[in-house]
Parts: sequence; C-alpha cells; structure tokens
Amino acid sequence: MAGTPDFLWLLDNEEILQLMLFACPDGVVVVDRGGKVILYTGSSEGIFGFAPIEVLGKEASGLFASDETWRAFSEALGRDGAVKNLEMQAVRKEGEPFWVAVSAAILRDRYGETIGTVLYVRDHSSMRMIQNTLHDRNRQLNDLVEELDFLARHDQLTGLLNRSSAMEAAQNPLIACGLTGRPFSVVVFDIDNFKSVNDAYGHLAGDEVLHSLAGVMRQAAREGDIMGRFGGEEFVAFLPAASLEQAVTVAERVRALVKEFRIPIGDGVFTSVTISAGVAEIPGSAETLREAIRVADDRLYSAKRAGRDRVAAADKLPGNDRTRSAA
Ligand code: GH3
Ligand code: MG
Ligand code: MG
Repeated sequence: MAGTPDFLWLLDNEEILQLMLFACPDGVVVVDRGGKVILYTGSSEGIFGFAPIEVLGKEASGLFASDETWRAFSEALGRDGAVKNLEMQAVRKEGEPFWVAVSAAILRDRYGETIGTVLYVRDHSSMRMIQNTLHDRNRQLNDLVEELDFLARHDQLTGLLNRSSAMEAAQNPLIACGLTGRPFSVVVFDIDNFKSVNDAYGHLAGDEVLHSLAGVMRQAAREGDIMGRFGGEEFVAFLPAASLEQAVTVAERVRALVKEFRIPIGDGVFTSVTISAGVAEIPGSAETLREAIRVADDRLYSAKRAGRDRVAAADKLPGNDRTRSAA
C-alpha cells in the first residue's frame, strides 16, 4: 500500500521504477526545466512515431503542432501546478497532426525546487474521430428531424401548412383574440370546376393551379394570418383580428387575383380558373374553430349553389347569412 515501507523500497529501486514507467500504456515524457526531453518511453514512441534517439535532448515543444500549443500547455501547468486530460494537437513523425490528451505535473526535488515536468500522453485521435463523427451525425439527425417536422406540417405541393398544422397554428391566436375581445375570421376557398381543369389540361396543369392559388394566398396574407391547404383543391385562411367585413375583403382580393392569373397549359396557351369562398367570424373564444369552419364551409356551398366565382359570408347567427355576388 502507498506510504508503507515496502512501497517506499519499490520507489527507491531504480530498475523497478523504470519498469513501472515503461509499462505505462500512456506515453510518458519527462522534460527538464529548460523544456528538453530527458525521458521518453516506448509507449511514447508508439504514439509519436519518433525513436527515443530522435527526441531525447530536443525541445519537447517539437512533439506538438505549434509553439503556441506548447505555450498554452505551459501556462496551464504554471497556473494550476498540474493539468488533466488537456486536449493538444501533436505531430507524428510523418508530419501528420493528431490529437492527444495530456496529463502533467511539475516534478520537484525534496527542497521544492522544480526539476522538470512529467507528461502522460494518450492518443486521442480515434476518440476525436468518434466525437467528430458523432457530432456530424447528430447535426445530420437534427437537420433530418427538422426536415421531417417541416414535411409533416406542410403540404408538399404548395408549401402551405397542412390541415392539422393550420388548425394547430390557429389555436393560440384564437385564444388571444378571445381574451382581448378582437374578432377572428375564417375563410374557406375552393376552386371552381377544378375537375374539368384536370380533365381538360391534365393533372400537372391542375397542380400548377393549386400552386398559383397558394402563391396568391400568401400575397394576400398579412402578418399573423395563417394560410393552409385543407386538402384537394380546398384552402383555408385563419385571420386573427379580422372582422367578417375585413375577411370578406381578403377573400375578394384572393378571388380577384386568382381570376386574373394566367395558367400556362403549354405552347404559349394560358387558361384561368375561378374560386368560391365561404367566410365566418368567431366573435369570441366561446366559439370553436371547428364550428367556424363548419359555418364557413356551409357558406362556401351556398356560393357554389349561387353560381360559383363568388364570396359568401355568414354572420355568427345562421339567420343573418348574406351572399355577395362577385360579378
Ligand atoms: P366545384 O366547383 O363544385 O368545387 O367542382 P370541382 O370540380 O372543383 O370539385 P370536385 O370535388 O368534383 O373535384 C375536385 C377535383 O380536385 C378532383 C380531384 O382530382 C382534384 N384534385 C384534388 N387534389 C388534387 C391535386 O393535388 N392535384 C390535382 N391536379 N388535382 C387534384
Ligand atoms: Mg372545387
Ligand atoms: Mg372541393
């Protein structure tokens, strides 16, 4: 045991001490006060690649990537009296830089005079490689999670929010409007006779129409408005702080912009489509989003029945419905 006479005898025996030093799997390097290497074990040779004869009596800083690395190490050692697992960039004999973890202590004689420094050097290159690989993989994984999250929340064709995400995104603004007594309106849009666009010009032209409508909706949106694709050729706009009248204005603007839009259908030929919309206002938090959507949907179908290409708005009470003709 440490401190017993038997152990002290071991330490007094130079050969046993050497055996113990050279059996250490870490590279052991002893440096004198002047910074020159005075002991360099076989494990050190295994790590750095230099033979003892190439190192002994030379500057220990030569084992490391730069004088700056060595200076930082010396400063840490001088400040704390020892360093533990300090990551340093070293150089192998072939000139290749690599990472080592160095633990070191100042050696003093029995009078407290500094004799030199002992360094225990562990090759950290594979550890670094694993850390770097893990770091890279982690970043890739985070990117992937973000991408998957985006894909899960957005409609791929139009880039708008999908139904569930749009509903989710509307919840907090709806509550905020309810608490502050501001209105909250919902507009449901549906492309008129869209099936015939697909039938006449093909599915790709149909996709182009959907894409264009999404662009128009983005154009018409104010900050805080939530635009989503509800599915198929049906879209939704949740408009926080918008009264029924303001929501009708937004819906009319989208309708007019869509009507103006020329959709390329090949060979310099263009077509256009119209949309119908249903609008409903939620006067306070008591009304649920679903109920407002149901009412807006109901208005949408009355717009369709009334001849399409128009916006139909419903007051909160079904008895107060009114339909606005676009023509
Ligand atoms: P209405 O005026 O009554 O709304 O008539 P409509 O033809 O628009 O309505 P209907 O429900 O009969 O047809 C909707 C069409 O929308 C049928 C479907 O093929 C098409 N559709 C749905 N999703 C997509 C899509 O992602 N791309 C394309 N190109 N077409 C789609
Ligand atoms: Mg339709
Ligand atoms: Mg539809």
